[in-house]
Amino acid sequence: MQTTTRMPAAFIGHGSPMNALETNRYTESWRTFGASIPRPRAILVISAHWYINATAVTAMATPRTIHDFYGFPQELFDKQYPAAGSAELAEEVAELAKPTWVGMDNDSWGLDHGTWSVLSHVYPEADIPVVQLAINAEKPFDYHLELGATLSALRHTGVLIVGSGNVVHNLGRLDWSRPEAAFDWAQRFNESAKSILTSNPADAPSLATHPDFRAAVPTPDHFIPMLYLAGVASATNEQAKILVDGYAMGSLSMTSYTIGT
Ligand code: ZN
Repeated sequence: MQTTTRMPAAFIGHGSPMNALETNRYTESWRTFGASIPRPRAILVISAHWYINATAVTAMATPRTIHDFYGFPQELFDKQYPAAGSAELAEEVAELAKPTWVGMDNDSWGLDHGTWSVLSHVYPEADIPVVQLAINAEKPFDYHLELGATLSALRHTGVLIVGSGNVVHNLGRLDWSRPEAAFDWAQRFNESAKSILTSNPADAPSLATHPDFRAAVPTPDHFIPMLYLAGVASATNEQAKILVDGYAMGSLSMTSYTIGT
């Protein structure tokens, strides 16, 4: 019988799209993560920025680099992340997820900046195939946790699973005068998330009852990618480890987590 190494998995707090171009302690930690784990055969990314009314995967051979933001320098719009897709991995996701239906996206999406701003540091050569899994906006938190647990089987076949979002993400309350600081409510919520993820990740959906949830998570798109890592961790009874920790502009947490490292 063939034994395979269980790939690590990660949730990355991606923050500003400018992190794609910058070098800072966050991007350095993402780079170190990529350099320190076995080379995956493919990467499955759950990005905050593909938040639609269906469960779907990118299935095209050459996913385009999507510049889904505005008001940033031209250099960021010129950035390309030319990783191949993987119809094979897309099919594997659909097969594992049954009876949940997973749509095959051949022409609408691609790789958005939640994916490439991170992967351009983790794997700068863009030489590993990447598939994105859409976040189904109509489903409750438990659905995402359970789908993460189901998809964790891919870790045994050389697939790196990466969630990309921010556990605390309130763009309406950004404070540009506090580039590295956090509001009290942001800190309280992020600390609670840290204690759950590092002890009992399966309990992550309970953060919805935290008193600061509405301020920290005004919309669920950036929060849900973390639930996939929590689900992956719960499937094998692992705890998450903090890869890097910190805050940006008062209302973003930049905390990233790994399992299996
Ligand atoms: Zn984002």
